[in-house]
Amino acid sequence: MKICVCVKQIPDPNIEVSKLDPATNRLVRTGVSLVLDPGDEGGVEAALLLQEKHGGEVVAVSMGPQTAQEALRRTLAMGADGAILISDPALAGADSLGTARALAAAIGREQPDLVICATESTDGYTGMVPGGIAQLLGMPALTFAREISIDGDTCTIHRVTPTGYQVVEATLPVVITVASGAYTPRYPSMKGIMASKKKPLSVLSMADLGLNASEVGEAGAKERVVSVSKIEARAAGRVIKDDGAAAVAIADFLDQYKLL
Ligand SMILES: Cc1cc2nc3c(=O)[nH]c(=O)nc-3n(C[C@H](O)[C@H](O)[C@H](O)COP(=O)(O)OP(=O)(O)OC[C@H]3O[C@@H](n4cnc5c(N)ncnc54)[C@H](O)[C@@H]3O)c2cc1C
Repeated sequence: MKICVCVKQIPDPNIEVSKLDPATNRLVRTGVSLVLDPGDEGGVEAALLLQEKHGGEVVAVSMGPQTAQEALRRTLAMGADGAILISDPALAGADSLGTARALAAAIGREQPDLVICATESTDGYTGMVPGGIAQLLGMPALTFAREISIDGDTCTIHRVTPTGYQVVEATLPVVITVASGAYTPRYPSMKGIMASKKKPLSVLSMADLGLNASEVGEAGAKERVVSVSKIEARAAGRVIKDDGAAAVAIADFLDQYKLL
């Protein structure tokens, strides 16, 4: 079984307060501390667990500047067998459709049985890329998986819902998004880190993938961030201390907002 797992390098959410370039409204990705998206680590873990059970190969795929090779090396240290980075200055400014086009072009060449993605990236939060990849590759999308099993050519997931889970299945090849927190990623071992240095990591340009700037990157982006606003600080709530009249004060408060 061949599994492609999509990953992204992002500004470290534990250290960085997101900085935006005021001219473009794009995330500042240089001069900041960068990590493999923690959500994507869950996807890598899901892929490695399936590989341990069914054999085959795990290939991590990313799009990003050359620095994203570091994030891919981490996936190799965790246990992935190979990695592909799509990198080209003309891809900066890609929207979710352009990103999906670039990723689908690289993944399609691998002819995987499974494509695993996180539900959304921790920096962009659009949650559009996995669905775009599925559509472009003509594969069904099984989303919000907290458990994945494969039997022959049938893939079954437990799909998280607000009240429980659904059991959903599709015939391979499929695209799966893993639910946030569903998989606890392993730490790369020292042996894994040493081995990762010798594993294959290929870097592809837009030309290598036959991609056209009018379809991907800033030139092909249909989405634009028009403006960005800060969330207004919320005023402190009113505290009612119970001196015997709290129930009346609460009732008055609720009545004021027509909640009684
Ligand atoms: C593997 C992967 C999965 C993703 N999944 C999601 C998702 O599920 N949800 C979501 O909200 N967003 C996802 N994204 C990102 C999303 O598609 C948009 O790219 C992003 O939200 C656009 O805003 P930005 O401010 O990051 O733009 P920018 O900073 O302009 O970045 C746009 C994209 O271009 C890439 N990029 C920048 N420079 C280069 C370069 N030299 N070569 C190649 N690429 C470059 C960035 O890494 C980013 O993906 C994913 C991106 C990747 C690479």
